[in-house]
Amino acid sequence: MSTALVNIIYLIASALFIFGLKGLTHPRTAVRGNLLGATGMLLAVVVTLLNKGIVSYEIIIAGFIVGALIGAILAIKIQMTAMPQLVGLYNGFGGAASVLVAGAALIEVMLAQNGPDMQTTVATVASGLIGSVTFWGSLIAFGKLQGLVTEKAVRYTGEQIVKIILLLAAIAAGVVVVMQPDQQQFYWILVGIAAVLGVLLVMPIGGADMPVVIALLNSYSGLAATATGFVLQNNVLIIAGSLVGASGLILTSIMCKAMNRSLANVLFGGFGEVEEGEEVEDIYAGKVKATSPEEVAMLLETAQRVVLVPGYGMAVSQAQHAVRDLFNLLESNGIEMEFGVHPVAGRMPGHMNVLLAEADIPYDKLKEMDEVNSMLGQTDVAIVIGANDVVNPVARTDPGSPIAGMPIIDVDKAKTVVVIKRSLSPGFAGIPNPLFAADNTLMLFGDGKKMIQGTVTALKEG
Ligand code: NAP
Repeated sequence: MSTALVNIIYLIASALFIFGLKGLTHPRTAVRGNLLGATGMLLAVVVTLLNKGIVSYEIIIAGFIVGALIGAILAIKIQMTAMPQLVGLYNGFGGAASVLVAGAALIEVMLAQNGPDMQTTVATVASGLIGSVTFWGSLIAFGKLQGLVTEKAVRYTGEQIVKIILLLAAIAAGVVVVMQPDQQQFYWILVGIAAVLGVLLVMPIGGADMPVVIALLNSYSGLAATATGFVLQNNVLIIAGSLVGASGLILTSIMCKAMNRSLANVLFGGFGEVEEGEEVEDIYAGKVKATSPEEVAMLLETAQRVVLVPGYGMAVSQAQHAVRDLFNLLESNGIEMEFGVHPVAGRMPGHMNVLLAEADIPYDKLKEMDEVNSMLGQTDVAIVIGANDVVNPVARTDPGSPIAGMPIIDVDKAKTVVVIKRSLSPGFAGIPNPLFAADNTLMLFGDGKKMIQGTVTALKEG
C-alpha cells in the first residue's frame, strides 16, 4: 500500500474518532458515537495490518485471540460496581504496551544500519517514562479499589523530595538513551525508576479519590501512546493518543469541578477519612424518622411531581429495573416523575446515566443537576436511592466540611424526602449527612432494590 493511501485512510479513521467523541457527549447520540469510533478503529487496524512490517500474521492472530479471550472474560465477570478499577487496569495495560512497543522499536532500529534518529530516541524515552508510570500507577489504583492495597493515603516525610529525585534520575537515564542509544540497558533502568515513581505517586492518594486518579492516568496512557506513535511514525496512533490524552484531562477537570476541588487537592490532600464520635450522635440522635414501603406508596399516591435521585447504592443493589417499574407505574397513574443525575453520583462519570439507560428510562426524563434543582421547590416527593454525598446539605452550609462548595442536588427543598439506604453510615466522603435528620425526611432503611420493589407492590395493592 502506498504511504499516501495509508495516510488518507488514517485521516478518515481520525475524523471518525473525533465525530465518535462528539456523539459520546450526549446519551441520545452515544450509541452512534460509539459505532463511529469503533468503525474508525477497525479501519485503522485493518490498514495497519495490510501495511504491516516484520510481524507475521500468525503472531498477530494469536495475540488477537488471547487478548479477545481475556477481554471477554473480564467484561462478562466484572460487577458493574467494579467498573472503575477495570477501566483503571485497561489504562495500565495501554501504558505497558507503550513501554514494550517503544523498547522493541529501539532494539529494532539499533539492529538497522543507521541507528535511531533524535526524534525516535526522545519519543522512546517519553513512551517508557509515561507508560511505566501509567502502568504501575494504574495497578496501585486498581489494588486500592479492589481492596488489595490499603485504601488509606500512605504518607511519609520527604515524600515530594523522593519523587523529585526519582523523576530526575529517570530523566538522567533518558538523556543517556538519547545521547547513546546503543546503551539500551538505560531504557530499562528508566522504565524501572518510572515504575517506582508510578507506585509512589498513587500510594499517598486515598481510595476515595481513585476515580479521579484513574481519569488522570487515562490521560497519561494517551500521552504514552502518542509518544509511541512518534517512535513508530504512525500518524493514527499519534492522533488517537492525543485524543485520549486530551479527553482524559477534560474528564479529570470535570470531575474535580463537580466535587469543587482542585487537582492539586486531589493529588496531595487527604479525603475520605470516616468521621466518628460525638458529632455524628449529635446530628442524628432522636431526629431520624424511619418509614416503610407501604407509607412511601401512600405518599406517592397523592403526589403530582416526583424526582428520583440515584447514587452509588442504586448500582450496588442493581435497583435500576425496579426503579423503571416504579416510573412506569407512577406515569401510568398520571404522576410526573423525573430523575436528577449528579455529575459525580456513583463511582465513575456517567455511572447513573448508563444504569438508567440500561433500564430503558427515556433520556428526556434524566435531568442534569442545575435543571433539577430549579424544580425541586415544586416537587412533592424526592426519592433518594443510595445517594449520600451528592445530596448532603453541609456542602452548602459548612465551609469547613471536606465537601464544602461541592454543588449538590437540593432534595431538601422538596416537600418530602424519602432516603433509601441500609443504615446511617456515610458515603464516599466519610461524613455524616444532616439530610437524614431533617424534618421533611423519611428514612426507608434497606436494600435499594428490595425497598423499591416493596413500594411498587404496595402501590399496586393500594
Ligand atoms: P455515596 O456518597 O458514596 O453514598 C452511597 C450510599 O449508598 C452509601 O451511603 C450507602 O449507605 C448506600 N448504599 C450502599 N449499598 C446500598 C444498597 N445495597 N442499597 C441501598 N443503599 C446502599 O454515593 P453518591 O451520593 O453517589 O456520591 C458519590 C461519591 O463518590 C461522591 O463523594 C463523589 O465525589 C465520589 N466520586 C465519584 C466519582 C464519579 O465519577 N462518579 C468520582 C470520584 C469520586 P448504606 O451503607 O447505609 O446503605
